[in-house]
Amino acid sequence: MRTNQPQTICLSDYKVPAYLVDQVDLRFELFEDGARVHSVLSVRRNPESSGGDEPLYLHGDSLVLESVALNGTPLAAGDFDDLGDALVVSSVPEAFELQVVTWIEPQNNTRLEGLYKSSGMFCTQCEAEGFRCITFYPDRPDVMARFRTRIEADRDAYPVLLSNGNPVAKGDLEGGRHYVTWEDPFPKPAYLFALVAGDLVEKKDTFTTCSGRSIDLRMYVEPRNAQKCDFALDALKRSMRWDEDVYGREYDLDIFMIVAVDDFNMGAMENKGLNIFNSSCVLASQETATDAAFQRIEAIVAHEYFHNWSGNRVTCRDWFQLSLKEGFTVFRDAQFSADMGSPTVKRIEDATLLRTAQFAEDAGPMAHPVRPASYMEISNFYTLTIYEKGAEVVRMIHNLLGESLFRQGSDLYFQRHDGQAVTTDDFVRAMEDASGRDLSQFRLWYEQAGTPALTVTDEFDEERCVYRLTVRQSVPDTPGQTGKKPQHIPFAVGLLGRDGQPLPLLFSAGSDDAPVERVLELTEREHCFEFHGVSERPVPSLLRGFSAPVRVHYPWTREQLLFLMNHDPDGFNRWDAGQRLAVDVIQSLIVAPEAEVEPRLVDAYRSLLRNTGLDQALVAKMLQLPSEAYLIELSEQADVAAIHRAREAVLSHLATHLRDELLACYHCNSAQGDYQLTPDSVARRSLRNTALGWLLHIGDQQGLVLAQEQLRSADNMTDRLGALRALVNSDFVEERTQALEGFYQAFREDPQVVELWFSVQAASVRAGQLPQITQLLEHEAFDWKNPNKVRSVIGAFASQNLAAFHNPDGSGYAFLATQVCRLDDSNPQIASRLVTPLTRWRKFAPEYRVLMKSALERVRDKDRLSGDVYEVVHKSLAD
Ligand SMILES: [Zn+2]
Repeated sequence: MRTNQPQTICLSDYKVPAYLVDQVDLRFELFEDGARVHSVLSVRRNPESSGGDEPLYLHGDSLVLESVALNGTPLAAGDFDDLGDALVVSSVPEAFELQVVTWIEPQNNTRLEGLYKSSGMFCTQCEAEGFRCITFYPDRPDVMARFRTRIEADRDAYPVLLSNGNPVAKGDLEGGRHYVTWEDPFPKPAYLFALVAGDLVEKKDTFTTCSGRSIDLRMYVEPRNAQKCDFALDALKRSMRWDEDVYGREYDLDIFMIVAVDDFNMGAMENKGLNIFNSSCVLASQETATDAAFQRIEAIVAHEYFHNWSGNRVTCRDWFQLSLKEGFTVFRDAQFSADMGSPTVKRIEDATLLRTAQFAEDAGPMAHPVRPASYMEISNFYTLTIYEKGAEVVRMIHNLLGESLFRQGSDLYFQRHDGQAVTTDDFVRAMEDASGRDLSQFRLWYEQAGTPALTVTDEFDEERCVYRLTVRQSVPDTPGQTGKKPQHIPFAVGLLGRDGQPLPLLFSAGSDDAPVERVLELTEREHCFEFHGVSERPVPSLLRGFSAPVRVHYPWTREQLLFLMNHDPDGFNRWDAGQRLAVDVIQSLIVAPEAEVEPRLVDAYRSLLRNTGLDQALVAKMLQLPSEAYLIELSEQADVAAIHRAREAVLSHLATHLRDELLACYHCNSAQGDYQLTPDSVARRSLRNTALGWLLHIGDQQGLVLAQEQLRSADNMTDRLGALRALVNSDFVEERTQALEGFYQAFREDPQVVELWFSVQAASVRAGQLPQITQLLEHEAFDWKNPNKVRSVIGAFASQNLAAFHNPDGSGYAFLATQVCRLDDSNPQIASRLVTPLTRWRKFAPEYRVLMKSALERVRDKDRLSGDVYEVVHKSLAD
């Protein structure tokens, strides 16, 4: 924990490492009161470094140094410096072996970085800088070494001992102990190191690769979770096959392992050959996981597996390049999910996250480019910008190059850089070299922060039959960056005629056989596009498929939006037109609360509820009103109470006027036969649970009976939780209390379900006011040391229950500040992520802003503030 101001680290200061490590031999002696780590490093001077006889500098954090020796000779006190956060050996030969022994205390490690204990097992998390909490090491991703790891522990307490690579030796030791040795033939950075030791059950499977090699697949979980592994193992096999088919990537070791742990700061980690997962992101059964959880697990299993190539075989040169592996891999997992389910729905989900949360980040105090220029704590940069916007940047390259050239580019990238630590620029260069396209201006996507805005105007020249679209782009100022250059933006458009038919897009008169959709490439501040042979004023369909992560401003009338909702052949834009219409209606009620709700919105939702011809997964998405978070993001000076009131009023109005249709929708989508995870069954459950939620929102008695019956009889968690959520968000106080109690008693033994139970309450404005949230923190199932529990109560309250969190008396802010300060001492990474909602204070109306700011100042003034929280709080309070 720091007491001084943390240092800013700049990309421009990057230097190649002065020393390289070729081989690492580790021996872990694991005990209940600590662990002894013996490390032998084969080190040599880096020929690329101009550092001369620079001292050897090894990072360390919270380590007790027991001994250090060079080529077998113990070093005397004057030969090295133990600086606490580093071990410096001033005089070393060209090449040598360094032997270091350290003592660490995993059982007291509450930060969950490095080696720690979770539910009685030892496990690790080394990305980004956790390996330095295990032993002294040049802990930077451009130092890649081969690791050999021997783990020794009590045989009964820790029968399973795992590390990266392939197992090469095992045996018994004195005193009831045993050991296993693992060898990883692929050089890797230390952040990909992993170790697990515990009493775990093993689930086995195999996979035969495209070249006919048989791979052992293993999943290790606590015995109580043995029934929750099948889905992840199946998703793993589908991912392995998909990566061969779509990217030509074959798995390289003989064994691939997945371990589930309950206490984990992140979702999952792609350690070479030994992926470690947060239990909530990998364990699933029909009884305990929702459809959304199944989809998330499939995506995360795929994501971590795909990293084996995009991240592990080719890794990042430094942490500024984090998006090299994350942006590309998120793009890859999104392609995979689209192939496994509904591509349109996947695109809607990704765009929703981006527009709601990443745009907010990009407009806030922590705004940073996809390749940041500086940071204080790298753990603060595992952001939506690095991941989601980074993925959009790769997607745009894919759109610009097309499927086949993109694949040639990725092949070249993997072939050229296999075994190397490289930069985002190397990635773009491979794409350029394979395609012959110039992406120099495109690189600005990596350098400039902020969400570009496109302002579109149009003119129709009836006489000449010419329709003209003018597009102006601007990139807003962000902290430390002003006066930005125009970016290279792929802008997919179509035009619809009066009858709803797509019009051909002719750039010049007379040509025929024109496409009905074009990707316009924007590179200047302003472009004007002329479309010829247009005989009537068309309705433009802009940014189809969300072809770039930008905001689009065009003055669509409500009439036009209704038209697009019904006719746009682009599913994404059909959904988007409905969202824009609903936003417009809600916003008009914010300004004039007594105004009438647009009757055409009711009609539009009615026809959606009755439309059985359209993809039901899309209908289910179209029925969701824009979230409060999105409405806040769209406001200049958000008045949360007014937004909440207006949105609730629209929801009540719709539900009241569509009651019969909702009941019909509920019944016609009722469960049929066994539970299935097909897109169609998922859509049906989504539709019926949406209908149920709306009915209970207006206090419908018949809805109440249906919800209680569904809660009783459901054979899956989606329907059970759907019913519970509907009840929790209703005014049936007694019934919801009973439902919550019954649900808890039924699932109290299952941590993942208890987390759902916490978050359903914490996210509800009816069940999750501050006194109730405070009670949840006192609940027997709540655990401050478990990040999932913290997120499911405090995180859900502050990021989803917005009306309660933004209580005008400031109590929600004060509460969050208190919890952040408390968590800062034990787990700064989690504290730093939790404080985010307060950092957006400038976005809100003055009465909120003042209170948010003062809560932030309270956090700033805490004693011994961690570097993680320091950076976020100071940046968000800066002028
Ligand atoms: Zn990742």
